[in-house]
Amino acid sequence: MDFNLPEESRMLKDTVRRFVDNELIPLEQKLVDRQNTFDLPDDIYRELSAKVKDMGLWAWGAPEDVGGAGLSPLDGCVVIEEVYRSTVGRSIFAPRFAPVLYELGTPAQKEKYLLPFVNGDLNAATAFSEPQAAGDLAGIKTTLEKKADGWVIKGNKCWITGADVADFILVLTRVKGTERHDGMTWVVLDKDTPGLKIGREQKMIHGRSTYEVFLDDCTVSKEQILGDPGQGWGAGNIFLHAGRMEIAARGLGVADRCQEMSIEYAKQRQTFGQPLSNRQAIQWMIADSAMEIHATRMMVYDAAWRATQGEDVQQQTAMIKVYSSEMVGRVVDRAVQIHGAAGLSDETILELCYRDVRPMRIYEGPSEAMRSMVARGLLR
Ligand SMILES: Cc1cc2nc3c(=O)[nH]c(=O)nc-3n(C[C@H](O)[C@H](O)[C@H](O)COP(=O)(O)OP(=O)(O)OC[C@H]3O[C@@H](n4cnc5c(N)ncnc54)[C@H](O)[C@@H]3O)c2cc1C
Repeated sequence: MDFNLPEESRMLKDTVRRFVDNELIPLEQKLVDRQNTFDLPDDIYRELSAKVKDMGLWAWGAPEDVGGAGLSPLDGCVVIEEVYRSTVGRSIFAPRFAPVLYELGTPAQKEKYLLPFVNGDLNAATAFSEPQAAGDLAGIKTTLEKKADGWVIKGNKCWITGADVADFILVLTRVKGTERHDGMTWVVLDKDTPGLKIGREQKMIHGRSTYEVFLDDCTVSKEQILGDPGQGWGAGNIFLHAGRMEIAARGLGVADRCQEMSIEYAKQRQTFGQPLSNRQAIQWMIADSAMEIHATRMMVYDAAWRATQGEDVQQQTAMIKVYSSEMVGRVVDRAVQIHGAAGLSDETILELCYRDVRPMRIYEGPSEAMRSMVARGLLR
C-alpha cells in the first residue's frame, strides 16, 4: 500500500506551492481591505492569469477537447489545496467548466458558449436555486413553455454567484405542467435576452455577492435549449463529484495555512512571560487540528485517487464535502483563538478565512443533505 502522491502529482503540488508562496501570499496584506476572496484589481488579474496560462493550469477543471488543462481529479485536488492556502488568486484558478454545456450542448452551442468560457473570454453563471427550492432541486418552479413564437421562460432565481458579470446564464427550468424530476431542462440565456433582469444584490458573509435573477417571459429559440426538453435531470451528474471534491480540497488548503500560521504565532507570542507554545491548552488545539487535517487529507486523496481510476465516488465525495467543510471551520476557529485580537482584525487573513469557510457547509449540498445521502447509500 502506497500513501504517497504519484511523482507527477507531487511535482505539480510543488510548482503550485511555489507560485502561491511567491506570487499570491505577498499580495494578501495589500488586498486585505477588499474583504473578498475572489475579485482582484484588473491589472493584477491580467498579470496573474497570464502566469497561470504559462503554467498550463488555466481552466484546470475543463477537459482538453474544449481547451482546458484536463487535469485528473487527483491533480485538480492537489492544485486547489495549494491555491486555497492563500486568500488571493482563487479566481485565476477557477475550474472554468460547465458540465451541462459539455454533456448536453450541440457543437454550435459549445463553440458559442463553452469554448470562450473556458478561454476566459466570456463569464458565466449557473442558476438553479429559487426562493422556494434550492437544496431540493426537483422542487424548482421556473417554467419553460412552447408557444407559437418560441420557448417562453418564466420564474425567479436567487443566490446566483456572478450573475452581475455573466455574459450568459445556464438556467434550470421545467417544462410547464411537469412535476419533480420530469421535465427538467437547462437553457442558456444571453445576458441581454429580453425579460431577463438581474435583481437585488444578496451580500454574502465571505464578500462574494450573489444576485436575484428574474425571468419574465423570456422568449428564446430551440437553439438556447440544452439537449431535449426534459433531459435536464442528472445532466452534469457525472461531474458532480468534481464540485464536492473541489470544496473538500479548498477546506484542506485553508486549514493547512491557518495551522501553519498558528504554529508560527504560538512560538513567537509571549504571554505571562512564556511563549504560547508552552501552554498545553494551545498545544492541544494545534494537535487536534493536525489530526483532523491529516484525516481529511487521507479521505480527500483517497476519493480523488478513486475518481482518477474511474470509480463511482458519489458516496465518497458526499463524505469528504461534509468532513472537510466542518473540519476547516474548527481549524480556523482555533487559529483565531490562538491569535487573539490579531485573528479577528485585518492584520491577519484569519478573519477572512473565518468568513470564507462558513458557506462551504451549505453550497453544493448542505452537510445534512450529504449525510442523508451517505446514510441512504448504506441503508439501501
Ligand atoms: C455563497 C453561496 C453561493 C451560491 N451560489 C449559487 C449559484 O451560483 N447558483 C445557484 O443556483 N445557487 C447558489 N447558491 C445556493 C445554494 O445552492 C443553496 O443555498 C443550497 O443548495 C441550499 O439551499 P437553501 O439555501 O435553499 O437551503 P435549504 O434547501 O432550504 O436548506 C436549509 C437547511 O435545511 C437543512 N436541510 C436541507 N436539506 C436537508 C435534508 N435533506 N436533510 C436534513 N436537513 C436538510 C440544512 O441544514 C440546510 O442548511 C449559493 C449559496 C451560497 C451560500
